Amino acid sequence: MADSVKIDPGAIATANDKLRPEQFDVLIVGAGLSGIGAAYHLQTECPGKTFVILEARNATGGTWDLFRYPGIRSDSDMFTLGYRFRPWRESRAIVDGPSILRYIRETASEHGIDRKIRFGHHVTRACWSSEDARWMVEATDANGEAVRFVSNFLYMCSGYYDYSEGYMPGWPGMERFRGQIVHPQKWPEDLKYSGKRVVVIGSGATAVTLVPAMTDEARHVTMLQRSPTYIVARPSQDAIANFLRKILPARAVYVVVRWKNVLVGMYFYGLSRRKPDYMKQGILNLVRKELGPEYDVDKHFSPRYNPWDQRLCLVPDSDLFAAIRAGKASIVTDEIETFTEKGLRLRSGDELEADIIVTATGLRLKLLGGMQIIVDGKPVDMSRTLGYKGVMFSDVPNLASAFGYTNASWTLKADLTAAYVCRVLNYMDEKGFAACVPRRRDADIVEEPMVNFTSGYFLRASAILPKQGSKKPWKLYQNYALDTLSLRLGKVDDGTMEFSRSNGNRAV
Ligand SMILES: Cc1cc2nc3c(=O)[nH]c(=O)nc-3n(C[C@H](O)[C@H](O)[C@H](O)COP(=O)(O)OP(=O)(O)OC[C@H]3O[C@@H](n4cnc5c(N)ncnc54)[C@H](O)[C@@H]3O)c2cc1C
Repeated sequence: MADSVKIDPGAIATANDKLRPEQFDVLIVGAGLSGIGAAYHLQTECPGKTFVILEARNATGGTWDLFRYPGIRSDSDMFTLGYRFRPWRESRAIVDGPSILRYIRETASEHGIDRKIRFGHHVTRACWSSEDARWMVEATDANGEAVRFVSNFLYMCSGYYDYSEGYMPGWPGMERFRGQIVHPQKWPEDLKYSGKRVVVIGSGATAVTLVPAMTDEARHVTMLQRSPTYIVARPSQDAIANFLRKILPARAVYVVVRWKNVLVGMYFYGLSRRKPDYMKQGILNLVRKELGPEYDVDKHFSPRYNPWDQRLCLVPDSDLFAAIRAGKASIVTDEIETFTEKGLRLRSGDELEADIIVTATGLRLKLLGGMQIIVDGKPVDMSRTLGYKGVMFSDVPNLASAFGYTNASWTLKADLTAAYVCRVLNYMDEKGFAACVPRRRDADIVEEPMVNFTSGYFLRASAILPKQGSKKPWKLYQNYALDTLSLRLGKVDDGTMEFSRSNGNRAV
């Protein structure tokens, strides 16, 4: 007689549960700054909706948990990097990464959002069915097992870069170097740099943060840049905010200072576009004031491009300039010819000796968390889509993505996006629609790159990025005031967005 097979009823139930996808009205991908904000908006403005957040990592905070290099901070002020709905109350306006992380986590726990997160869930694929008006979302869970979810709406808050590794150009001779090479995205927890000679390759926000931060212990820190970036000093405390706090409630101060900072930012961005030479000279004069007449400001601080063709770098309380003045840090503008055993040989023939070389060479852009998108059986090539209001994509139904500003704080746009998604969901409920999709109907629209930035990471990724259109609603304003009008007050049914009931029936 054959051995009887013992069946464990519990095991069957578990297996069935895994096969049967869980259903939600909205599925959010990512529990960073945007995902937590999106969840707050959803549960406040669409209280009837069920939702879950799938997060690939085992922690909230995204960027602000991942990056652990010395001095990690934002260069945006917290009045605009903070959520519209949660005032920033500390005296410093430009703060370090751990403070931003605490702010995100406090928001999540205060509003019970942390209970809605499934950690260790890496989303890999989403398939839309117009027939059912729903997404089937596939993910790998913390045990490496495939899991599936069903949702009517998919809200991508997965950031914009590859979490697995940063961008690292290959230089000749790297393997010969006897010291340590470190990328800021994977900072070793136990890295000791006390008394060491450090070279930081790069000139972006990460480099200008790391250089002064490492001078406290390092013997000397050199920032090696191929070409300069615009660098502007700004106080880390906002004097107006700190004064207003004495006479006004925190929420009122937050509103006033947030708008002040938005308008000041927009003014200087606009001025940079209209009068680039004037702005350039203004910025360089400020650097000359910091470093004195002997310093070669033109060589080390005068970029080849105009202000705001790439993101401006901000240094709080002039920390980078102070480190240079104190002789603890220096800037070398040159190109790497090769790594050597002892450091770097440069095109000029100079040698830079180093114990540690930090490659602050940037990020690798990754769209929608690397997830594959399929609409009615056809894979979507995102580079052929057109961004709609900087929130949705042409011919991709019921999917929104949080993508912040490149010329202002990320959260300003992420907040507006969340408010807009809630408006769309409420509108569909009110009218009995199950699906919405932006359709490109105007033949006059000219395609343009999604981001008009010349930064290396955007140029490297231009082939995979969606496009923007030359006219609204396909135009990416990069302007908080215009986006407020469009996303908070503009008509949801604007003639470009097509709505349908389930079974693919188009609304007339
Ligand atoms: C070093 C650094 C400094 C910065 N400084 C500023 C600044 O000063 N001002 C500013 O405005 N912006 C700044 N930014 C941009 C910054 O990323 C945004 O401010 C903001 O943190 C983005 O939040 P997010 O939630 O949209 O994305 P992220 O913080 O990137 O979070 C995305 C989350 O989604 C998860 N995820 C991604 N893919 C998947 C997937 N397939 N499945 C499941 N989960 C997934 C990730 O694990 C992560 O937790 C900085 C970025 C960096 C890297």
